[in-house]
Amino acid sequence: MGLLALGTALDWPEAKKRADQVRKWGIEQLLANWRRAKSKERDALLWGDEVEYLVVALDDEAKKAQLSLAQAEILQSLAVDEALWKAGGAHTQTHHAGHEGERPPHFHPEFGRFMLEATPGRPWGIDFKDLLKVESDMKWRRVIAKAHMKPNEYPITLTTFPRLGLGDYIQPYYPPSGPALRSQFVPDKIANPHIRFPTLAANIRSRRGRKVEINVPVFKDTNTLEPFNDPTVNYDLHNWPEDDDVRNGAVKEGHVYMDAMAFGMGSCCLQITFQAKNMTEGRKLYDQLSPLGPILLALTAATPIYKGFLVDTDVRWNQISRAVDDRTREELGEVPLKEDRWRIPKSRYASNSTYISQDPRLRKEYLDPDLVVDEEIKKRLTDEGMDDLLATHFAHLFIRDPLVIFSEDLDELDLTKADHFENLQSTNWQHMRFKPPPPEKPEIGWRVEFRSMEVQMTDFENAAFSIFIVLVTRAILSFDLNFYIPIPRTTENMETAHARDAIHTRKFYFRKDPFPRPAQRRQNQSPNGVSTPPPSPPSGPVELEYGQMTISEIINGSTEGFPGLIPLVQSYLNSVNVDVETRCALERYLALIRKRADGTLWTGSRWIREFVASHPEYKHDSVVSERICYDLVKAVEEMTTKEGKDGSVGWELLRGKE
Ligand code: ADP
Ligand code: MG
Ligand code: MG
Ligand code: MG
Ligand code: MG
Ligand code: MG
Repeated sequence: MGLLALGTALDWPEAKKRADQVRKWGIEQLLANWRRAKSKERDALLWGDEVEYLVVALDDEAKKAQLSLAQAEILQSLAVDEALWKAGGAHTQTHHAGHEGERPPHFHPEFGRFMLEATPGRPWGIDFKDLLKVESDMKWRRVIAKAHMKPNEYPITLTTFPRLGLGDYIQPYYPPSGPALRSQFVPDKIANPHIRFPTLAANIRSRRGRKVEINVPVFKDTNTLEPFNDPTVNYDLHNWPEDDDVRNGAVKEGHVYMDAMAFGMGSCCLQITFQAKNMTEGRKLYDQLSPLGPILLALTAATPIYKGFLVDTDVRWNQISRAVDDRTREELGEVPLKEDRWRIPKSRYASNSTYISQDPRLRKEYLDPDLVVDEEIKKRLTDEGMDDLLATHFAHLFIRDPLVIFSEDLDELDLTKADHFENLQSTNWQHMRFKPPPPEKPEIGWRVEFRSMEVQMTDFENAAFSIFIVLVTRAILSFDLNFYIPIPRTTENMETAHARDAIHTRKFYFRKDPFPRPAQRRQNQSPNGVSTPPPSPPSGPVELEYGQMTISEIINGSTEGFPGLIPLVQSYLNSVNVDVETRCALERYLALIRKRADGTLWTGSRWIREFVASHPEYKHDSVVSERICYDLVKAVEEMTTKEGKDGSVGWELLRGKE
C-alpha cells in the first residue's frame, strides 16, 4: 500500500458524502493519464518482487514467541541508514558478502504494526543473470532488517502469526479493542498508526454496519471439541455496539472466529510486478497470468493456523478477503436493495472478475455476463475513446466507495496526479493488478502485478517462485501462449485452492491446449510486418477447451493433454541463449516447483501441520499452544538463517517423509 499524504481523514458518514466526487476525479485522472501513456512504447522488461515479514520477538528462556510492534522504530532506523547511503556514505550492511556497491533494498510499512515489506533496491532487468541475484538479495534483506531490530527480534516469513489475537501475543502488551477496530481479540495498536490504516479499518467496519466476520473451519483432529464452538469468543462484552455481533450470530459452529482487519491484512505474501513493453503487452500478461493465480496459491500454501487453532484450509486468501469486506447487507443480498446501488458478489479483496486484452482469442464466453459495472463511469471512459474492455475493467473497480479520503485533497482536481484514481485502484485488492504508469514518474511503463502467492518460509523458496513466474511470463510472450478459461472458473479455482492439501487432493480448471491457433501463428510470423487478415474468431463449445487437472498435471504436464508449465518454461529456455552455468542454477529453482507439484516436497502448510502434529505438547485437539508456537517460530527462524549461513538449504527440510 502506498502511503498517501497526511491530512484530515474523513470518518465514514462524511467520506460517503464525498465518494462520488472522488470517483469522478479519479476517472478524470485516469483518463488524463491514459491519454498520455497509452501509446508509450518500448519500455524495458523489468520486474520486481515484494516480500513481507512478521517481526517476531523470541524469549528463549520463557520459551515464548510474540509479535513485536516495532515497525516504526525499525523503519526509522532503516531510513537513517538509507539517507546515509544516498549521501554517499556506506550503508551499514553494504559490505554484506557479494553486495558491495549494490543498491540496498527498500523497506516499506504494511498494515500490521508487526510487519515489514522489502523490495529490491532497483527492479530486476531482462538479463537471466538477474534471476540468479534474487535469492541472495532476499537473504540480504533479512540480514539488513535483522540489523535494525533488537537482538531478540527476527524477520520471519510465516504468512500469519499462529497465535495472533490470543492471550499474550504482542509486545508491548495492549489490551484488546479500541475505537477503530472494536475487536474483542486485538487492540487498535496492532495496526500501523499512520492515519490511513486505522481510518481504513474503521471505515470498512462502519460502511459494513458491523465488524468484519472471519470464520475459518477448524481442523477436526481426533480430540477436537465436538461440536466445536470457538472457546476464545467472549459473548458478554458491552463496550461497543459491535460487541453485539457475536450475540447476533457472527460466530459459526465448527469455525475459528475472528473480527478484525488485522487477521487478514496482517498476513504476509509474495507479489511480483512486471513492466510490459507497452499497454497491449501489459493487458495480455494480465489476462494470461490470471488463470495461474489459484494454481500458484495452492502451490505456495502456507497458512494452516489461525488464532491458536489448526484450521481446515491451507491458504490465507479468503481470510484477507473477509477481513476487508466492506459490503453492506444490501450489497451482500441479505436484505432487499434500498440505499445501495447493486448487489456485489465479491469482496474488494478477491480474484479478478474481468479480462482486458484485445486478443482475438478472448471469446465473449470467457467473460462474466453478470459483472457489475458503473455504467455512467463506463460511458465517460468510452466517450473519451477508451475501448470497451478496458473501460469495463475500470468501471468495475469503481463500483466501490473510496474508503480513506483526506479533506485537503478535495479542494482542487489535479490532473497531473493519480491520487484519487489510486484511492480506488489500491483498495481493489484483486489477484492481478493492472498498474498504469504513475504520472509523476513518466519513466515507468504499464505494469501487471501477480498477487496471489503466499510468502514462503525460506528465501530459496521465495526466489524459486519469483523466478518461476518470471520465466512463465517470458514463455507466454515468446510462444504467445493461451491460458484463457471462463473467468468464473478462476473464481472457483480460487476456492478450490483453499482445501487442505489441495495440490494433491483437488483438481483445477485449466486450458488443455495453450498453443496459439495456426492462423494466429502465421500472422505473428509474417515477415517484414506485412499483416495478414485477422484470424476468424475461435468457435466450438468453450467447455471443450478446458478440463479439470491436478496441480501436478498443470505444472509437470500430463501424457495425454496439457504440456505442463515447467516443460513450457524448459522449451523457452531451450529457445534462448542461456549459458550452461545459468541454466543449471535455474534448474535448482525449477526443481522445487516440479517436486512440490508432484508431491516429493511438502508445501509450507503441510510442513507446519506435521510440525504441530509431532510436537510432544500437542494433544490432537487442534490447539496450537504458546510452547508449540514458540518452537514452530524458532524452527522457522533457524531454517531461514541456517540456509544463509552454512550453505545448507533450509527448504530441504520441507522434503516429505519417505
Ligand atoms: P505495490 O506495493 O504498490 O505493489 P511496490 O512499490 O511496493 O508496489 O513494489 C512493486 C515492485 O515493483 C517492487 O519489487 C519494485 O522493485 C518493482 N518495480 C518498481 N518499478 C518497476 C518497474 N518500472 N517495472 C517493474 N517493476 C518495478
Ligand atoms: Mg509494496
Ligand atoms: Mg502493497
Ligand atoms: Mg507500495
Ligand atoms: Mg505489501
Ligand atoms: Mg504489491
